[in-house]
Amino acid sequence: MLVALATTLVSCVGPAPAPSASSVVVPAADSATSAPSPSAAATPEPTPKAAAPTPSASATSVAKPLAGRTIVIDPGHNGVWTRRELRKVPSGNGRTKACNSSGTASNAGYSEHAYAWAQAKALAKVLRARGARVLLTRSNDHGEGPCVNLRSRLANTEKADALVSIHADGSFARGARGFHVIVSTTMVGGAAVEKASGALARELRNALETRTSMPRSTYVGKGTALSFRSDLGTLNLSKRPAVMLEMGNMRNATDAALLGSPSFRAKAAQALADGLVAALT
Ligand SMILES: [Zn+2]
Repeated sequence: MLVALATTLVSCVGPAPAPSASSVVVPAADSATSAPSPSAAATPEPTPKAAAPTPSASATSVAKPLAGRTIVIDPGHNGVWTRRELRKVPSGNGRTKACNSSGTASNAGYSEHAYAWAQAKALAKVLRARGARVLLTRSNDHGEGPCVNLRSRLANTEKADALVSIHADGSFARGARGFHVIVSTTMVGGAAVEKASGALARELRNALETRTSMPRSTYVGKGTALSFRSDLGTLNLSKRPAVMLEMGNMRNATDAALLGSPSFRAKAAQALADGLVAALT
């Protein structure tokens, strides 16, 4: 079991499996801009009978662009990891996978699940401020959460507009830095959901790279910071647009310092919210 645990610690969700004939052909079974100040506020109103300005519909939509949207945030992994998490659960395509992996950690001991939880809370706050209904797949960072086959259930049952799973990677490759966004190539939601997920991934990628100091991955996605996989139950089993964010490489000291910084997490939350606004509105 120690071997299994050690393996999961090497990488956040494990390496992408090399494509094989069987895996290829198996079909899917499964900145918030504030509203401009009314000029009347700055300039004395000469006409007493003029009505006070009221917020226009457009001003309201700018302030709450995600009103009416439901977004599920999945803080990757759990507060605790025990051997029980090794039990196999469906992960899509008729395959199985361990209920949960432990996740990775920085060399200084900052765990991926703690980062994911902190980043999820920061993102939830920003999204709610922009009008979204936000749900999390786990309610704390000290207990067990859902297995990977159930991480999409909330998004499915609540018919969420998006599922965003937050992780950070654990590559020991020399010089490996940066974030990437993973999309499933075999979602139960079908081709339209896969396409919407790809569009969401690109908006999130663009927002992260322009609004934070975390660079695109130097080791995944060949410079695109996008990764297309078929082995992740969290994404495969979603009927709603879904992406998995690997927000940086915790085994790289520069990335780990960013991920551990509340100010980075706040900027990243704003960036991710911008990306969600761009994709959903
Ligand atoms: Zn992870």
